[in-house]
Amino acid sequence: MSTTTTLTNADLDAALEDARQSYTARNPRSLARHVEAQAAMPGGNTRTVLHYDPFPLAMARGAGCRLWDMEGAEYVDLLGEYTAGLYGHSHPVIRAAIDAALDGGISFGASNTLEARFARIVCARFGLARIRFTNSGTEANLMALATACAVTGRRGVMAFGGGYHGGVFTFAGGGNKINAPFEFVVAPYNDTEATLALIARHGPSLAAVILEPMQGSGGCLPADPEFLRAVAAAARAAGALLVLDEVMTSRLAPGGLGASRGVTPDLMTLGKYIGGGMSFGAFGGRADLMDRFDPRRPDALPHAGTFNNNVLTMAAGYAGLTELFTPEAAAALNARGEALRARLNALCATSGAPLCFTGIGSMLAVHTQAGPVRTPAEAARDDAKLKELLFFDLLAQGIWLARRGMMALSLPVGDAECDRLVGAVEEFLASRRSLF
Ligand code: PLP
Repeated sequence: MSTTTTLTNADLDAALEDARQSYTARNPRSLARHVEAQAAMPGGNTRTVLHYDPFPLAMARGAGCRLWDMEGAEYVDLLGEYTAGLYGHSHPVIRAAIDAALDGGISFGASNTLEARFARIVCARFGLARIRFTNSGTEANLMALATACAVTGRRGVMAFGGGYHGGVFTFAGGGNKINAPFEFVVAPYNDTEATLALIARHGPSLAAVILEPMQGSGGCLPADPEFLRAVAAAARAAGALLVLDEVMTSRLAPGGLGASRGVTPDLMTLGKYIGGGMSFGAFGGRADLMDRFDPRRPDALPHAGTFNNNVLTMAAGYAGLTELFTPEAAAALNARGEALRARLNALCATSGAPLCFTGIGSMLAVHTQAGPVRTPAEAARDDAKLKELLFFDLLAQGIWLARRGMMALSLPVGDAECDRLVGAVEEFLASRRSLF
């Protein structure tokens, strides 16, 4: 039985080809939409992660934790919009908040009555002295790193292999030609010794060290708590700001994942679900740093953004955090995720299949190797074909997840939906047994 990257036998190729063909046959409308979309968008795509071969499935509508594709087939939505869809589709509380905001008119070109109360509760929840809103997590990271450069007078930024902080901040597979032009030093995630050596070498030129307390896009790889604490201490000692990117992970503990590990960043970036499903990003943290943006100061740093205080986000986000995703709800959802991951891993271990599920709480990712998978280098050993086959097999069973195998539970996901996933993985293990 193989547990590494050697599953390239003809049977696997044939199974995959079959799965793709059956997917294509089941989804003619999604295929037609994809072809049509190519007239105006390169590759028919405006968000790279949503593309996969032979063509991406297009969803027509959603409700709660269900989605329906263009053929009307129903899926349990276990992707939860890559963590942004925490509240499920059109939750009545979120919807009422948006409706009320719409009734009052949008896009005033002025300060409004909703932004300060939202800022207050986000600060209180995540231990931030001050916050500023952006429109995406990418923009939040851009602002945090630009701030770090401005206040330290340095240009270097340490990031981590396998990390993701937005489309212009990708560090998997050796980086990306359109990464923002900071002077990046890329360190190995979860390798304390090598990272501390790099900080010692580059320290004087580092404005910031940016990292996710669990790599999300990189495959739900939690930072070892000691690694996180050692990096935080070394960054500080070098005079670099610690920027914790909690765009995904803020949902994993009531005050964010870093706080649960005893790590307080100089700046934190947020995004995804916090806007209640509307476009959202934010950066915040130490008062002395954030107050550099106080526009009353003669030397104020500028921070613009037409939609920074848009009323839909300000209203939906406030309703979500105060009425739905309370600290108690966060703890309960994460407990559900822990139990689900334990069941899935027990299943994989019993069957002896080269599969394992990593993550924390409500975020999980499947890896096509027996595990453990702790580092990006280990995650890169996943068998790509087996992962693709699993994706198509789960789709055929009505489970919606990221093509790369990531899942994020939303609040409407209950026991029945968790059972559906466990049943679907069980079926995969049984029906594809001959391939392992
Ligand atoms: N940071 C992390 C950790 C993310 O996972 C993402 C998006 O997936 C971003 C930043 C970028 O956020 P956005 O897609 O809102 O620009």
